[in-house]
Amino acid sequence: MTDKPRSFPLPLSSVVDQKPSYASVRGPVATPQTATQNATQNARSAQPYVARQAPAAAPAPLRGAQAERDQIAAAAAPRQNPLVSEAVRRAMVARVAKQGVKDSVVLSALDRVPRHHFIDEALAAQAYIDASLPIGHHQTISQPYIVARMIEVMRNGGQLKRVLEIGTGCGYQAAVLACIAQDVYSIERIKPLHELAKANLRPMRVPNLRLHYGDGMLGLPQAAPFDGIILAAAGMDVPQALLEQLAIGGRLVAPVGGRTQHLHLVTRVAKAEWTSEALEDCHFVPLRPGTV
Ligand code: SAH
Repeated sequence: MTDKPRSFPLPLSSVVDQKPSYASVRGPVATPQTATQNATQNARSAQPYVARQAPAAAPAPLRGAQAERDQIAAAAAPRQNPLVSEAVRRAMVARVAKQGVKDSVVLSALDRVPRHHFIDEALAAQAYIDASLPIGHHQTISQPYIVARMIEVMRNGGQLKRVLEIGTGCGYQAAVLACIAQDVYSIERIKPLHELAKANLRPMRVPNLRLHYGDGMLGLPQAAPFDGIILAAAGMDVPQALLEQLAIGGRLVAPVGGRTQHLHLVTRVAKAEWTSEALEDCHFVPLRPGTV
């Protein structure tokens, strides 16, 4: 199923052109933690807000960016909750940077997407701690750090044209991806979550994002090949169909494993040749076949 064309709060150019200064908060790559550990740690060590400097050389296109900032603010206004303010979101981005994510394009995208719009209102106060949170149907919204890290690894500093996400969930990572890639496709196997993502994304109007209901293990052959593929659920290996749908030179990032999982980067180096690299530990919900 294809979602209607929408225009996201900020144009791609405003993400790509901006060079926010995150240098002051960079640190070593963090050990990934479970949601509970993260929530506890974040509650204990609230980080100071790190102000971003206005980009000196390449200011964002003012008209569009301002209009869209207003749009985000207007969408966020009715809640009137200081825990979901832009400053709180910026502090979350600073923490993600401190955990080791260096890609300013990814950090900018994270700064733009109102994560609290993707979770239940009852949990909104926790929207900007670095934790995964329940979204129903035994699934979770991924923790901001891992969302950013996966996209950073997939992007590898390059331009992304066509990207596929397996496991839309509530649509948060898809929205972040849509700030970065030219065209984003996302597949969800649980119908009510597919509908939830559509409802969450509707007010944001994201024209370059298409949501599909189906089994992501089969990929999306009609839209392949993809420069990048991200799996938001962990299998014991990477489905062959997805490897085949990667463009040559394309990069796939996936959690692999059961109880113990590692993030894997698979690169298609030739028509029939892929390389694989295990990265850090991670913790994702399982990848399952079929649809429900
Ligand atoms: N991308 C989400 C994370 C969602 S959690 C975010 O933005 O936070 C992972 C999702 O993967 C769940 O919604 C689960 O239903 C979905 N999933 C698991 N196996 C799948 C499959 N074979 N195809 C599509 N989605 C799948």
